[in-house]
Amino acid sequence: MSFFQKIRNGLSRFMYGRNGADHLSLATLWAAIILDVVNAIFKMPDFVETIIGFISTVLLLLTLLRIFSRKLEKRRAENAWFLQKIWWPVKGKLNQNKQQRQDKEHKYFTCPNCRAVCRVPVGKGKIVITCPRCRGEIHGRS
Ligand SMILES: [Zn+2]
Repeated sequence: MSFFQKIRNGLSRFMYGRNGADHLSLATLWAAIILDVVNAIFKMPDFVETIIGFISTVLLLLTLLRIFSRKLEKRRAENAWFLQKIWWPVKGKLNQNKQQRQDKEHKYFTCPNCRAVCRVPVGKGKIVITCPRCRGEIHGRS
């Protein structure tokens, strides 16, 4: 058995029955990295840097604890909650914005009352849109 195979075998034996990296641990890991980068780039008061450094350390510890955790059910429930409440909504919003940016024929308005998105053809000038969901008025220029 080669050296690398030995390492890989040892690692998979070590990770057996453990949670491993999921979406939530990747997100907390990235958050910790981003906080560290922010800390390194921007000059901030000492106590702010200390707080940010502390948060990123906690996030990093959480990430490691979750990856090596053996309480699979709990970790999976956390990850499912994270996917449902944060990951998919944010991802959906990003995709939607991309679609809206590519659509040059329409302008999109978000209803201030109910957050419904209304699509209007471009070039109509000043308009008042009646929200299809809550009948509220949206004033805008298309
Ligand atoms: Zn509305």
